[in-house]
Amino acid sequence: HCGYVAIVGRPNVGKSTLLNHILGQKLSITSRKPQTTRDQILGVKTEGHIQAIYVDTPGLHLGETKAINRFMNKTASAALKDVDVILFVVDANRWTEEDESVLEKVKYARCPVVLVANKVDQIENKDDILPRLANLSERMNFSQIVPISALRNKNLDRLEHLVEGY
Ligand code: GDP
Ligand code: MG
Repeated sequence: HCGYVAIVGRPNVGKSTLLNHILGQKLSITSRKPQTTRDQILGVKTEGHIQAIYVDTPGLHLGETKAINRFMNKTASAALKDVDVILFVVDANRWTEEDESVLEKVKYARCPVVLVANKVDQIENKDDILPRLANLSERMNFSQIVPISALRNKNLDRLEHLVEGY
């Protein structure tokens, strides 16, 4: 089995952190500043017969007035065309207009989309999270919803196993 996995989401949700943990090495750049990842990062993970190729897309951005944002949107959208599964990463604690625009794009993907609710280590009020996730899954058909903490390494095993099944 060999697959392309695209990691998409607005800046700062933890895409690069997730990729770094999955690959077990510092391949992509993480930072507090949004938009650190300017290019697609390709990572290959081989485990037995399974080879998964991860593409860490730059966030899909609003504000397409700037040329750089236009370029990054193009790159991110192009990355969605050839993938076997999309990991749509969101911050479990915060939903923004930018998440909204990413949702609008992944909605039309032809491959399965897994909603990855990251930063669960920062959750203060669980009661806020569940209705939001329920609401999201009413708006599009996610193949799975997986809560994780990329930083604290929570539930990443489950996510990896799941991804390798696509
Ligand atoms: P990207 O822009 O989506 O690639 O996000 P990054 O991976 O660069 O992460 C943005 C910021 O969020 C960094 O400061 C990370 O350390 C932090 N971060 C990422 N994952 C988690 C997480 O699971 N929990 C917490 N608390 N912070 C995280
Ligand atoms: Mg990044």
